[in-house]
Amino acid sequence: MWPLIFIAGCLALVLLQFWWQERRNARLRIQARREYTEVALKQQREISAQFLAQQQALFNSMIEGVLLLDQEGRVQLVNESLRKFFDFPAEIRGKNILEAFHLPELANLTNRLQNEKIISDAELEIQREQLRSLQVNAAVVTDRSGVEQGQIFVFHEVTRLKELENIRQEFVGNVSHELRTPLSLIKGFAETLLDGAKDSPEQATRFLQKIDKHADRLLFLIEDLLTISRLESGHVALNFQEVNLRDLVQRTFEDFASRAAARKTTVENNIPETTVIWADADRLQQVLFNLIENAIKYGKAEGRVIISAREISADKTEISVADDGPGIPAEALPRVFERFYRVDRARARETGGTGLGLAIVKHIVQAHGGEVRVQSELQKGSAFFLTIPHRPD
Ligand code: ADP
Repeated sequence: MWPLIFIAGCLALVLLQFWWQERRNARLRIQARREYTEVALKQQREISAQFLAQQQALFNSMIEGVLLLDQEGRVQLVNESLRKFFDFPAEIRGKNILEAFHLPELANLTNRLQNEKIISDAELEIQREQLRSLQVNAAVVTDRSGVEQGQIFVFHEVTRLKELENIRQEFVGNVSHELRTPLSLIKGFAETLLDGAKDSPEQATRFLQKIDKHADRLLFLIEDLLTISRLESGHVALNFQEVNLRDLVQRTFEDFASRAAARKTTVENNIPETTVIWADADRLQQVLFNLIENAIKYGKAEGRVIISAREISADKTEISVADDGPGIPAEALPRVFERFYRVDRARARETGGTGLGLAIVKHIVQAHGGEVRVQSELQKGSAFFLTIPHRPD
């Protein structure tokens, strides 16, 4: 009997040990699995934090503004460019679009996007220090199985492009207008001639002279337009050389002898004989021509036009063309160098101006590395100043 009990006891002991071992192993397996899960979760969290940081860095490096909304239309992500565009006061993550941006137009885009799924080239204007124009492209964001997760908006600033487009349109409008006026006059005179005026030599001469005058105006306008377009596109290569300024002014005066005499204007060349500047002689002559022409044309009859020059610093000379005419109103001063700007439009047309003279002056002086400015007082006169840098070492 005892041996049997002993064997059973031993068996029970072996079984107990086996059971105990198994439980221990199971506990170790559970612990190992838990530890593995924790490590894996930690790694996953690290990877997704790294991914998010990379994503944010990528978005932040974009010039375009990026906005990500979640499915409820709350802000999930904005990049640095977008922050700069809108100048957000505080954290806007989690807010809805209207709370965050206060822009009903943008809220309308999110509504549109729900139906259209993609929006290209929408335009948005925001008033900050200045009016800024943004082009907006947007799309619905879906996961792999096509379930909508939110919306993404990309904002591209087009303020400068819009400004350039406005300048272009204004320029085309001005050019067409300036060309149409003399052309319709020429056509009118030609029709009058054909209708019978040609049979009277006196009338015919008068109308032909007018046709000739307006054709000249068209030619000047086209020449000035070509000059300005070459200057603006930077296609004018300046031929720099040492120029004796007094001689150059004297040569320019010769072109005005009869016009100055007709208005009884005295023109004075006050430039010292020794003044030599580093410039393109032909272009600088064009500058002087335009300024002296204006001074005679807009100055008073029997007035005085004085050209002077002085060294204003070790590295530049200032040239001035001054008249004692009626002057330019203060509000017009900042605009006189603009293309086609005229203080008195009717008077300028009558005197045959193209409205491009001062714009050409400004471009040529800037191409020399210099600057232009004007000073004027009503009934006292106007003075145009230009600086020309000295020859570089
Ligand atoms: P325009 O062909 O009309 O003369 P400009 O560009 O040379 O064109 O000049 C622009 C405008 O500036 C002129 O129409 C005129 O109103 C004004 N202006 C230019 N120079 C003078 C001046 N010396 N005195 C008064 N007004 C001037």
